[in-house]
Amino acid sequence: MPTVFSGIQPSGIIHIGNYIGAIKNWVKIQNDYPSIFSIVDLHAMTLRYDPSSMENVIFNTATALLACGVDPEKCSLFVQSAVHEHTELTWILTTVTPYGDLTRMTQFKDKSEQNSDNINAGLFTYPILMAADILIYKADIIPVGEDQLQHLELTREVARRFNSTFSPIFSEPKGMLTETPKILGLDGKYKMSKSLNNYISLEETEQTLWEKLRGAKTDEARIKRTDPGNPDVCNIYTLHKNFSGEEEVKEINTECRKAGIGCVDCKKKLMKNLLTLTSPIREKIEFFRSKPEKVYEILEQGAQNCKKIASQTMKEVKSVIGLKRF
Ligand code: SF4
Repeated sequence: MPTVFSGIQPSGIIHIGNYIGAIKNWVKIQNDYPSIFSIVDLHAMTLRYDPSSMENVIFNTATALLACGVDPEKCSLFVQSAVHEHTELTWILTTVTPYGDLTRMTQFKDKSEQNSDNINAGLFTYPILMAADILIYKADIIPVGEDQLQHLELTREVARRFNSTFSPIFSEPKGMLTETPKILGLDGKYKMSKSLNNYISLEETEQTLWEKLRGAKTDEARIKRTDPGNPDVCNIYTLHKNFSGEEEVKEINTECRKAGIGCVDCKKKLMKNLLTLTSPIREKIEFFRSKPEKVYEILEQGAQNCKKIASQTMKEVKSVIGLKRF
C-alpha cells in the first residue's frame, strides 16, 4: 500500500484557506492510504518568528488539525523537529543537489523578494529539507497543489541523483495533484493569509465572522442593489463555491446576474454555511485545548511511529554512503 506524506507549517491561526487547501484533503486521504502528516516547524524557521510563542503555535496547529478530523487512529501526526532524521538526511541530500537546481526554484525567488531583510541560507535549501521529509519515509504519494509541483520534481531529481551516486534505495515519489482552489482573502485580491490579515479563521464567532464578511470585497462594478452583478469576478461567490451546496451556488449565480439577490443577503447565506462547518470545529478546538496532555501524547505517539521508519531509512542511507559503522 503506498504511503502518503504531507506537511503543514505551524500557524497560530488556521483559516478556511488552510482548511480547503490541505486539511480537508488530509481527512479524506487518511481513509485511503497509510498517511504521515507533519507539522513542519523547521520549515517555519526560515522566516523570522518569536521563539517564545513557537510551542504554542505548534500546539494550536495540532488542536486545529485534530478538531478538523485528522485522526491519530488512522494516520501518524507529529512535529517535524521531533524526528531528527529529517535534518540528518537533509545534509546528506544537500551533497547531491546541484546549486543550479536550487537557484531555479521560483518559491525561493518569491520568498526572497517578500523577505528581503532576511534572505537566509535556509530559504535557499528549504526544498532539500522538503525532499528529506518525503524520502526519509520513502513516501510514494505526495498531495500537491500546482505551486508545489516544482518542489516535488526536485525531490524526484534528488532521489535519482542519490541513487546514481550511491545505491538505488529511494523510489521517486509521485504527486497527487489536489484540487486546491486558491482562496483569496477578504480583500478579494491576495491569497488568504494571516500576515495580510485578510483571513477567516476556523474559530470565528457569528459576530466576528459577520464583521469580516460585511466589509469583504464583492463585484466592484455592482454599485447599487439594482445593478446586476458578475459572480465570476466576485470572491464571495468563490467562497460560496467552496463552502455552500451545489444548488445554492447555482441559485446565487443566476440571481446575482439579474440583481435578484443583494450582496448583504448573499454574504449572510455564506456566513450561515461557514458557521455550519466551523462551529463544530471551534468546539472541538476548545475541547483539545482543554486537554493539552492528550494532544502532546498524540504527537509523541506519531513521532515514535515515524522514528521507527526514519531510523531504518537512515541505517540504509549510512550503509551506502560509507558510514555504516558510525
Ligand atoms: Fe458577489 Fe453575491 Fe454580490 Fe453577486 S450577490 S456580487 S455573488 S456578493
